[in-house]
Amino acid sequence: MVEKGLICTNCGRSYELKQLHYRCGSCGEPLEVTLYEGGGIARGNALAQSVLSRYKAFFPFETLDSRVSLGEGMTPLVSSPALAARAGIGSLLLKNESQNPTWSFKDRGTVAGVQHALKLGIRRIGTVSTGNMAPSVAAYGSRAGLETFVLVNEGIPKEKLSPIGIYGAHLIKVAGDYGRLYHESLRIGQEQDIYFINSDAPMRVEGSKTIAFEICEQLAFDMPDFVVVPTSAGGNLRGIAKGFREFLRAGLIHRLPRMVAAQARGCSPIVKAFEAGRLEISREEAPRTIAHAIENPLPPSGNEVLRILRKEEGLAVSVTEASILEAQRTLAMEGFFVQPASAVGYAAVLKLAEAGTIKEEDRVVVVLTGSGLKYTAALDRHTLEEETCALENLGDHLLQYRGL
Ligand SMILES: *Cc1c(COP(=O)(O)O)cnc(C)c1O
Ligand SMILES: [Zn+2]
Repeated sequence: MVEKGLICTNCGRSYELKQLHYRCGSCGEPLEVTLYEGGGIARGNALAQSVLSRYKAFFPFETLDSRVSLGEGMTPLVSSPALAARAGIGSLLLKNESQNPTWSFKDRGTVAGVQHALKLGIRRIGTVSTGNMAPSVAAYGSRAGLETFVLVNEGIPKEKLSPIGIYGAHLIKVAGDYGRLYHESLRIGQEQDIYFINSDAPMRVEGSKTIAFEICEQLAFDMPDFVVVPTSAGGNLRGIAKGFREFLRAGLIHRLPRMVAAQARGCSPIVKAFEAGRLEISREEAPRTIAHAIENPLPPSGNEVLRILRKEEGLAVSVTEASILEAQRTLAMEGFFVQPASAVGYAAVLKLAEAGTIKEEDRVVVVLTGSGLKYTAALDRHTLEEETCALENLGDHLLQYRGL
């Protein structure tokens, strides 16, 4: 195996993978593992493999520690003719990431981060999150027997706190500017040997590559036209795009799909910069959206997402609150109960199809990033009907629907 390193996504400066590095010391932009220029999919029974063992040739791990996996990844890619028809397109496929161990795609990056921590001999990990990343890191930290620190903001509601606390991590409510916490945690972590697997840590990005790898396999390497990703920090979109790029270099696929960064209009710093043709994002001053899992006013990988979209003919699109809720309901009526942040992807498809950007003959994959059960408060925003009747009237009650 080629010895891998880290490289700055912006200026190309290199760093060692043997030490904790997250961002470039020269330009401040995020780092990534150098591109794999070849490699193949491991042979054998997919049902007996983990994502990291199946795609071992694309990860810098000589050996895998079996204590770490919780069976993440290998999620279904489900075709929905009904939702495709509603959007007026030929084919729509849903990559259902809510089927991960902690119900979001975050588990893919967490498992890669934990493997890396163990490889470096680091026994303490952490993250900064109020959303899906917190329970993911807490769960994997416990599984691997690592001391785990989850930093949340002071005002986090109890119903979000308990599902993190249950895993037994050190849960620390930090008073102060939440925006600074991302950078402060990385700095303190480097000093104190705590591996912070934050939103766009290089290994988290590597983990997200497996979403692309699986899509390629699930479609028998016949590439879709668009892959739509609800985007916040940008780590997941970066990972998926890198995964396709590496399979292309390895000769496993013959073209790249166009990536679409989907954001809620109430917090859309990447879309705003993209539409204005700017190369750098600026802070969203008053973020407000029901799509809390993607409400990052200053995405740490925002500039790199812009660079990718520019280089690879990607798109960025924002959608309204009403369309997010409508998409959430529409997805649920097709059997997929996802959280509002996840519904942003399908709302974006409807908008792009309406505008004629996505065409009738296009095949589209939407990444359903996380489960609706993680955020039941959003249910209050829907009108859900129910009926009542007395037991003795049940027969009559059902009779009215006969032949409907
Ligand atoms: C984290 C998350 C996102 C955004 O991913 P980024 O890597 O931060 O861009 C989208 N949807 C859900 C459900 C998430 O948990
Ligand atoms: Zn740099």
